[in-house]
Amino acid sequence: MNRLLVVVAHGDDETLGAGATIARLADLGVTVSLCVLTNDDGSRSASGAGVTNRLSAIESAAKVLGIERLQVNQFGDNRLDTVGHLELNRVVEREVREFEPDTVFTTSLADLSLDHQLVARAARVAGRPGRGSVREIRSFEIRSATDFGETSGISPAFRPNCWQPVDEIYLDRKLEALRSYGKEVEAWPNPRSERGVRALAEYRGSQVATEFAEAFELVRAVL
Ligand SMILES: [Zn+2]
Repeated sequence: MNRLLVVVAHGDDETLGAGATIARLADLGVTVSLCVLTNDDGSRSASGAGVTNRLSAIESAAKVLGIERLQVNQFGDNRLDTVGHLELNRVVEREVREFEPDTVFTTSLADLSLDHQLVARAARVAGRPGRGSVREIRSFEIRSATDFGETSGISPAFRPNCWQPVDEIYLDRKLEALRSYGKEVEAWPNPRSERGVRALAEYRGSQVATEFAEAFELVRAVL
């Protein structure tokens, strides 16, 4: 792997899903680019008002993770279903054309979040064989979104078949990046609490007899 494109709906998805792996790969010399489709958290606030620009938080997290290139688009949080498939696909296809990644990480079709599902589809379309540089696509899991997509029966299950062991220093980098998002970090026992994130890393690590790991579903690989 030389060039990794991470495609997500929301700033924090990249950190929750693959933050430790991204930081590790960046340290190994992989050039990482992050494409975020939305840039507000208006729909997450109780009143629905007070749309917040998330750019500075995304930039801060990207810096912690060693992400070199950042593209933040201006679609609305939890409103990607109002964007035409063609437009969404074009945004991700443009990223693939300009950055020429060999590998793409994205969210899972199993997620409860429709934004996550739509981004996962757009990444698959943009990375399809014969259309560009992409040779491998992996999806990652995001606590609560992936937890409840599969159990609600509305989408296929997340079936990890690829584990990246990570040293504790990279788990620490992931948690540091997560703190950039401030209020996104909840208190234990919330699944997105620091302890919750650590617990998942320990669980995924123990599946492959290592201390900590992040799990992925390998969508496609051309060897
Ligand atoms: Zn998200």
